[in-house]
Amino acid sequence: MDFSLTPEQEQFGKQVREFIHEHLKPELRDEVEREQYSIGPLGKKFVRLMGQRGWLGIGWPRQYGGQGRGAIDQWLFLQEMDLENLPTGGLTLSSAGPTLMRVGSEEQKREYLPKILSGEIEFAIGYTEPNAGSDLASLQTRAAREGDSYVINGRKIYTSAAHHSTHIWLLARTDPNAPKHRGISIFILPIDAPGVTIRPLRTMGSERSNEVFFEDVRIPAGNLVGDENQGWYYVTMALDFERLIPHARAQRQLEDLINYAKRTVVDGRPLSRRPQVRLALARLAVEVEAVRLFSLRSAWMIECGKTPNVEASILKVFISELSEHISVAAQNIMGPYAAVRAGDPLAPVRGRLERLYRGFPMYKFAGGTNEVMRNIIAQRGLGMPRG
Ligand SMILES: Cc1cc2nc3c(=O)[nH]c(=O)nc-3n(C[C@H](O)[C@H](O)[C@H](O)COP(=O)(O)OP(=O)(O)OC[C@H]3O[C@@H](n4cnc5c(N)ncnc54)[C@H](O)[C@@H]3O)c2cc1C
Repeated sequence: MDFSLTPEQEQFGKQVREFIHEHLKPELRDEVEREQYSIGPLGKKFVRLMGQRGWLGIGWPRQYGGQGRGAIDQWLFLQEMDLENLPTGGLTLSSAGPTLMRVGSEEQKREYLPKILSGEIEFAIGYTEPNAGSDLASLQTRAAREGDSYVINGRKIYTSAAHHSTHIWLLARTDPNAPKHRGISIFILPIDAPGVTIRPLRTMGSERSNEVFFEDVRIPAGNLVGDENQGWYYVTMALDFERLIPHARAQRQLEDLINYAKRTVVDGRPLSRRPQVRLALARLAVEVEAVRLFSLRSAWMIECGKTPNVEASILKVFISELSEHISVAAQNIMGPYAAVRAGDPLAPVRGRLERLYRGFPMYKFAGGTNEVMRNIIAQRGLGMPRG
């Protein structure tokens, strides 16, 4: 593959960067650092601003309101946003939206796709249940057809974006008598429908996730996506679209550590002169560069019409473990200061790396665990039999 960007792509990346720098006010930066993976009111406003510029859907096909510029441009946009930790519409834009383009009804496409691109609609992903995580097809949330409606009963867990989204992209069981992969369907469920209860679930890293309960929630039958009982097929498709993973945050975290080591003087010498600090940072630089290339390769494959599968699993494992390596290096380099939380004037780099230390374990779970990813690599990449 050719790793170089075209002059137009370079120019586009620069344009996004300049726009972000112009509009990233201190209040938005504070909100982003406070909220992390949630989106606050200023973050939402910023996403809409990006929608108005046409950048949310820069790589989406023109017929669905995008600019048809391809996956590398979409990746460049995500990279620049990720570098500043800014929200981008997440899986609504990169997974649910593209699935809807392929299997949604004409009415659903007209109703939802333009609003996704303007930042007005955001889906929380409602797959996982207390007894259905890696073995997702065991899910029990029930969607029963009653006339022109479906009635939903059940419970989801780790529905991360539910508290700031407009809808849930819901996976529910429509045929309890069919084999488990063949009796489930996808629905679009408005979050304000009567009978939906959202409860916060705080993670170790302070990110908010949610439990969502459904009690006789009635939604129109037209909210079924595609055909009934084909949900497993559509979810697999939606997961395949989750492959455009930016990595720029790791680059920023490494820069934070490098600047800290250069600035901090201990016993009359900057930390950056210590051999063990230099080695640790150089080791991380190698990993950050490797992840950049993995990530660009996935974007390039999508641009060429290929589906990164094993490649995406490799990238997911590598990125999540890189977060661990960066946080452990921060502990070693910053010593006790690494444990000082954001808000305390003694917290280095505004407490960002302290928070990463508490947060990195979740990256090994969210979006499919690293063990499951390694199973995919062994089976599909190395041609090994099922474990
Ligand atoms: C912070 C966070 C945010 C999340 N956000 C969302 C969201 O928005 N929407 C959503 O639907 N879900 C979300 N998830 C759920 C996530 O997808 C699940 O946590 C994940 O799929 C694992 O499921 P589980 O937690 O039930 O663990 P389990 O599946 O119970 O796994 C427990 C352990 O067993 C291991 N294991 C399980 N099966 C195998 C196997 N076959 N081979 C080897 N090891 C195995 C796992 O790797 C893990 O270490 C989120 C999770 C987290 C932590």
